[in-house]
Amino acid sequence: MPAKVASAKAPERLRLLIGGKWCESESQDLHPVFNPAEGLSITSVPFSTKDEVSRAVSAADEAFASWGSLPITDRIQFLFRMKEVLENHAQELATLNTENHGKTLEESRGDVRRTIENVESAISIAYTLAKGTSLDEISPGIDELMVREPLGVFAIVSPFNFPIMIPFWFLPYALVLGDTVVVKPSEITPVPMQRVAELLQDEVKLPQGVFNLVHGGSEVVETLIGLPATKGVTFVGSTAVARRVYRLAGEHGKRAMVSGGAKNNIIVMPDADLSRSVPSIVSSFFGNTGQRCLAGANLVSVGADGGLLGKFSKASSSLRIGNGLSPATEMGPMVTKAAEERVRSYVQKGVDEGGRLVVDGRHATVKDYPEGFYLGSTVFDDVSPSMSIARDEVFGPLASVLHVETLEEALELVNRGTNYGNMASIFTSSGRAAREFKRRANAGNIGINIGVAAPSAFYPFGGMKDSFFGILHPQADTVDFFTDKKIVLSRW
Ligand code: NAD
Repeated sequence: MPAKVASAKAPERLRLLIGGKWCESESQDLHPVFNPAEGLSITSVPFSTKDEVSRAVSAADEAFASWGSLPITDRIQFLFRMKEVLENHAQELATLNTENHGKTLEESRGDVRRTIENVESAISIAYTLAKGTSLDEISPGIDELMVREPLGVFAIVSPFNFPIMIPFWFLPYALVLGDTVVVKPSEITPVPMQRVAELLQDEVKLPQGVFNLVHGGSEVVETLIGLPATKGVTFVGSTAVARRVYRLAGEHGKRAMVSGGAKNNIIVMPDADLSRSVPSIVSSFFGNTGQRCLAGANLVSVGADGGLLGKFSKASSSLRIGNGLSPATEMGPMVTKAAEERVRSYVQKGVDEGGRLVVDGRHATVKDYPEGFYLGSTVFDDVSPSMSIARDEVFGPLASVLHVETLEEALELVNRGTNYGNMASIFTSSGRAAREFKRRANAGNIGINIGVAAPSAFYPFGGMKDSFFGILHPQADTVDFFTDKKIVLSRW
């Protein structure tokens, strides 16, 4: 196992950024934030008071008056600077991401890369929009023009598993389009976004109040949505909370773009090329320690096994577990002790409900880090669709292998075996099977011989059924979410 790795120092207590000023929260509601690889608290996060949240929204509202009317070409310059600053600090941000979340440094570098790609995508979209849409002589003497206008303040609420990247599915688009934001990171992994906030303030030099940062949990989110100046909310998290947030936004008449949880099926046809497929499937199930909304959860083997289970189990059980900062590590820890215990309880449920445990990750230990939240990869075979491990979102390194005879049965599992619809993948050598799957699988992101079908920044991030609430999706669709359209007819 790798030797102990030194971690950077986080501030003792996280702060808030309101109207361009850093402030200590007055809240006494403090929560520890962990480095999961070591199992030690690295800082504490104060849950913002109602007054602090209200001040952050007011600051964003005030800033909107000038930011929203700045020429778009000027706002774009801030995004160019943002791209440069994020690139200059990419290694530092990836390290913080790994220290607070636990994922490997390579995975964190990927997160930062996708973060920057979203800035690039927002720049390109803004240039396209700046050209506008108009049609002269729509009728004799009448010209027609469509303009987009920003709306005001948006709240951005994110989950723990991509501490920087997910806020950036929204943030650069909102800003370049002329809106202002209040970001609330996950209380579990708030450290990376805190550093990004410092960079936006000190190096990108966004005008004060354009970007604000608050911390907390459900109450802060409810306050953010309820304040009259907030025009809308973007939310990514579990389905139970997503449903609540969507309902609350509706009650307050606010725009809402809301992504929920997932239970992704990976279908393997008998004609799949296993030597190419298995590494991609293993990384789908165990990358990010299974804590990814695009992670494989159910491995559906169609027809004769052809060695799939043996190869998958062997590759899964040989993953090197450890501190994500160590280059040798292939799978980091779970994000919290509670998350580790949740997965352990699902392993027990799998055993109790009759699954055949072929790889048991419960006894994984990592030398030098006895307190870390480690779990090894776990594989169950002979899982039936009604078992909890086949239906519930476990969100950890647990794979359930199900066997069916036909593609039709596999599609039945994707479409009716789960209420989620985030991603579904097929591994096959048949173009016909792949096409059938692409057309009929009810999931927002489809992989064909791809284990993690993550849309590029310039495409919307899909999601169907209980994995998404709303119409417009993160990344590219945000252009319609963050603006209103005005149609002007004129005759001179
Ligand atoms: P979570 O739902 O526990 O928390 C998400 C956010 O909601 C956090 O900021 C949290 O503070 C806030 N929150 C918690 N309870 C709330 C409440 N009652 N009211 C309002 N806000 C509340 O999710 P998590 O554990 O941080 O993240 C993991 C989940 O996110 C998984 O279900 C995963 O599938 C999902 N996820 C989905 C996508 C996607 O694109 N669909 C992407 C990443 C993660």
